[in-house]
Amino acid sequence: MQREELLRIKNLSVSIGDVEILHDINLVINTGETHVLMGPNGAGKSTLGYAMIGNPLYQVTSGEIWFKGQRIDDLPCYKRALEGMFLSFQNPIEIPGITLSSFIRSALEQRGIKLRLMQYKKELKNTMDILNIDESYADRDLNKGFSGGEKKKAEVLQMLMLNPSFAILDETDSGLDVDATKTVSLGIEEYRKKNDGSLFIITHNTKILQALSVDYTHIMVDGSLVKTSDASLIDDINANGFAQYEKDQ
Ligand code: ADP
Ligand code: MG
Repeated sequence: MQREELLRIKNLSVSIGDVEILHDINLVINTGETHVLMGPNGAGKSTLGYAMIGNPLYQVTSGEIWFKGQRIDDLPCYKRALEGMFLSFQNPIEIPGITLSSFIRSALEQRGIKLRLMQYKKELKNTMDILNIDESYADRDLNKGFSGGEKKKAEVLQMLMLNPSFAILDETDSGLDVDATKTVSLGIEEYRKKNDGSLFIITHNTKILQALSVDYTHIMVDGSLVKTSDASLIDDINANGFAQYEKDQ
């Protein structure tokens, strides 16, 4: 099946301050595809996620990012989000004074989606049920006092409610117990079913990938994409680690 191009990254280099972290990255993601990014700690995986979503700390020093046929590397983060990009943070922050429920509702409103309160609450509860999140969490301040796993589930809840066309999941599956891992992978499947969702999954957890059908796997070492292949690459990494790619540098 011919799929439509969703995201194109061309010769992208990214710096934090004076230090170049990503070097000459090229990547194409089509609608409905699931891509996985793996690599050693500190390789630059989160940096790539932040550069895609437009975190101002990460400066694009050369190259281009295109999303839905539009060049976006000059767009601020919130505009990229309005265009349908979503990033689930590796370390979600606490937002005191704003409840989980009101946070998601206002994010929906910013996207022009205004639901009646009762309808919104019903939809939120249904989605929380899928993710096994107790309904009392809706009225708790976002992430405040949440466990690591609960924060990750809250990220998946936001993804399911906001229904982005492209979701970047940065180690959303790390630090989860067995049950939470299953729940989070169910949530990811639900997202894919709902709207032919496209995913960029940064992970070390090869177990979660067994439950998802992965189209492409990329390996990043020292800020460069050193290998792209299909899902079979995950087994290779499981068996042989990243050292084989580090040697090629
Ligand atoms: P990964 O997600 O693959 O573990 P990161 O993208 O977080 O790697 O980090 C890549 C490199 O950039 C590392 O050397 C890290 O120390 C550096 N880095 C990341 N974020 C910052 C930051 N905010 N300030 C300075 N250096 C950073
Ligand atoms: Mg990271």
